[in-house]
Amino acid sequence: MIFKVAFALGIGVVRKSILELLLRHRNPKAEGGRRGKHSLQRKFVLGIGVVTICIVFLSITVLQRVYNDYAEARDNFAGISSYWLVLDAANRISAERGPANVAMASTNIDNAASLQRLAASRTLTDQSQDRLDIQPPSPFGPVPASLLRQVRQQLLRARNNVDHVAALPPAGRRPDDMKSAIANMFEVVDLLRVLTVWRGNTVIARDPSLAGNVVIASLLTDLREYGGRMGSQIIVPVTFHQKLSQEEGDAKDQTRAHLLEIWRTIESFRVLFEDDARVLQAHDEAERLFFGEGVGYIDSVVSQGKQSGDYLTTASELTERYVPTLRTLERFRVVFLDVLLETMGGIRDHAWFKLVEISLATAAILLTLVGLMLSAHFFLFKPLLLAGEAVVDLAEEREVNVTDPAGIYGGEMLRLFDAIGVLRGKLSERSELTRQLKNEAETDGLTGISNRRVLDFVGENGIGEAAAPSARCLILLDVDHFKAINDTHGHGVGDLVLKEVASLVRSIVPPRAIVARFGGEEFAVLIDGADLGRAVTLGREIRLALQQHRMVTAKGTQINVTASFGVATGLGGLDGWNRLIEEADLALYRAKSDGRNRVRFFMNGAMAQKDCPKTLNTEPRPS
Ligand code: GH3
Ligand code: MG
Ligand code: MG
Repeated sequence: MIFKVAFALGIGVVRKSILELLLRHRNPKAEGGRRGKHSLQRKFVLGIGVVTICIVFLSITVLQRVYNDYAEARDNFAGISSYWLVLDAANRISAERGPANVAMASTNIDNAASLQRLAASRTLTDQSQDRLDIQPPSPFGPVPASLLRQVRQQLLRARNNVDHVAALPPAGRRPDDMKSAIANMFEVVDLLRVLTVWRGNTVIARDPSLAGNVVIASLLTDLREYGGRMGSQIIVPVTFHQKLSQEEGDAKDQTRAHLLEIWRTIESFRVLFEDDARVLQAHDEAERLFFGEGVGYIDSVVSQGKQSGDYLTTASELTERYVPTLRTLERFRVVFLDVLLETMGGIRDHAWFKLVEISLATAAILLTLVGLMLSAHFFLFKPLLLAGEAVVDLAEEREVNVTDPAGIYGGEMLRLFDAIGVLRGKLSERSELTRQLKNEAETDGLTGISNRRVLDFVGENGIGEAAAPSARCLILLDVDHFKAINDTHGHGVGDLVLKEVASLVRSIVPPRAIVARFGGEEFAVLIDGADLGRAVTLGREIRLALQQHRMVTAKGTQINVTASFGVATGLGGLDGWNRLIEEADLALYRAKSDGRNRVRFFMNGAMAQKDCPKTLNTEPRPS
């Protein structure tokens, strides 16, 4: 039962873990779809799961067998213990006959002492019967109460008879009364024999291998009983100084033959007890004292009785000499059963220790497997997962923060995370360099605004998210007489002028507009949308701001800077952009040729000056 529950629990836990695992791995988002199926962790956990199930199955098989051994040894021990009690009860009744005979045969002088011995013996008998009421452990049921009641009633009757005879004055006792009382005592044992046979059978039915031991124990009890009977059979003639009748002589001879037959049968089972010195010693003692001295003594008393009623011994002397030899038979039985119980207790304890040992070993193996699984998860797979995520984040240029994660142990793992840290450092260095290079590649070195490459790219592809070929406007501006500034103030001052012009333009145009150096002292402003009027207005704002701007050299000389503007609108794409530049350039050329410091625009395939739609009337006159 315990194993079934443990098995069900074990299977439940393993199944739950595997299901959780499968469900987790079935989630493609969590495990990366197809790659999740090939996860090392999944394979490892499945492998451990299979090993665990195999070990659980194996352990259950072994444990089941060891438990059966233990249960068998435990039940055998209980069975033999119970049998021991029944045999002891039978033996006590046999033994009670000795003092009963003495009490019935006693003279007036020693009657009190013999009655006392009888009372003590009866107490022992009652105690042995009370022990039969105690319920032995399962699977052996209690001794049937009705049978035990019958035994007690019969015993009470027999005892009453004995007491009746013993209470009579010796002169008033009749041989037949004594014989009848003794026969009553025999009947009690015969009735109890039903119990011993029944209990012996229940033990053998449980484990047939115990049959030999049960038979020996039963024969040893019989031996004591018939040994006692042999004495009881001659106690009456001895008590009453009667010559033995033919019938009494034959009965004694039959009992003697029966005793020898029982002894021979016991000898044939010698192999079952000869290994233990204590049993062997009890056996030898019984053989020597009972069959040697006891039986010989009875033989000599019987041979006297066959001659005449003048026995050389009294009933009391007969009992005192014969009963000790009977005790060697009792001792043989007790030692035999005690050794048997000792052996069975040993087998039971050994099986119990084996059961505990294998259970602990199984628990240790299963705990180790669980530990292995958890360690692999925490010390291997979890860090590897973190490392993998970190590498993916690095590859996809996302922020990575796992270079020193808490709970990571093991030199290899720490080295891996150190390497990821180094990689992250190098990649961020590289991206900074790339950013710088890109910036440099897109920026004009002198003015800091975008260069022609960026302008062409945006011109062709659109500003911001606007896709080519959406409409856009281009303003080209060229500093007037810049060569003269160079010539007059020097190239350095020329450079400063270019820088100031660039920053002024940048400050005026909307943030989304692209301001680029178009080349030399020419600049471009690219704005999205087809609103030419707005572009022309913006060009005029820049022109006016430039005209009004005061530039002073380091020497304190003021320089007046103006510029000419050409504005056009057009589409993106390579052709559209080239055309737009061309038209803006034509307008700029017109602004130069019209006298400089002015804005000209190209509209509807022709040059225009004033009739630009919407806002063109506001152009201030060039100064
Ligand atoms: P216009 O009004 O017709 O435009 O006359 P301009 O003198 O401005 O035009 P021109 O093409 O004759 O002269 C342009 C000068 O700009 C020639 C060149 O030396 C000078 N220049 C070009 N790039 C730079 C530069 O980066 N720094 C300086 N200081 N001068 C430059
Ligand atoms: Mg120029
Ligand atoms: Mg110029």
